Amino acid sequence: MLIHESEFCQSNAVVVHGRAGVLLIDPGVQNHELACLANDLSDSGQTVVAGFSTHPHWDHLLWHAQLGAAPRYGTARCAASVRDQLSDPGAKDRIAAHLLETEIAGQVPLDLLGLITALPAETAQIPWDGPQARIIEHQAHAPGHAALFIEERGVLVAGDMLSDVLVPMLDLNGTADPIEDYLAALRLLESVAGDVDVLVPGHGSVGGADQVNARIEQDRAYVLALREGHDPSDPRIGPSAKPGWEWVGDVHNGQAQRLARRSERDGTPG
Ligand SMILES: [Zn+2]
Repeated sequence: MLIHESEFCQSNAVVVHGRAGVLLIDPGVQNHELACLANDLSDSGQTVVAGFSTHPHWDHLLWHAQLGAAPRYGTARCAASVRDQLSDPGAKDRIAAHLLETEIAGQVPLDLLGLITALPAETAQIPWDGPQARIIEHQAHAPGHAALFIEERGVLVAGDMLSDVLVPMLDLNGTADPIEDYLAALRLLESVAGDVDVLVPGHGSVGGADQVNARIEQDRAYVLALREGHDPSDPRIGPSAKPGWEWVGDVHNGQAQRLARRSERDGTPG
């Protein structure tokens, strides 16, 4: 197992060693980082035999030609969402325009973005010759989001959940009940928590066994506060936010406002 951390939003790429090569999960963001990872792998004689994108957001859908032409899997819902996004010919231009507002403008290779092979619905594991990587699919954060649990290594690759720096970001467009979907996803992750030694969030710090339940509880408390319309006392927002992550407070305010409007509109919480 190897974890490669990007400068962009502390993004974590995960490499799992198999018999004939490696499984690469959410490869990374910037061109030089992807190339660096590709070089590290080829220097150590490893080829990528499979890729996996945890969910259909651009920063989890990137690839570099030097990583080769292995199938890049995603859940069926993830792949469908990517296909839908990319059916709009302006999609990549919009991502590039969004990146112009960041410090990584021009550094992100979009050519190979989103070339995802759909795994059949209900697929339980990544089809590859290596440690079993169990697919834990749920509807929190993004359509077809999946965590991977590599049980024999005790590693949970959580995608955009269980971060120490980002609050839960709900999928407010794709689902009828984003709050309940998020809580259900946390329960799913909780069902394997006792067997996790290493927790790798898509963004943020890698956690040990003691962090798994703590982060699940922290995320649940945040989501419940959103549901009740309370101010969450969450260390990831406000003055205790990690330096560089002050913007997470704006993310929180934005989704709290949208949820409030939603419940006004249809009279339901969330
Ligand atoms: Zn995401």
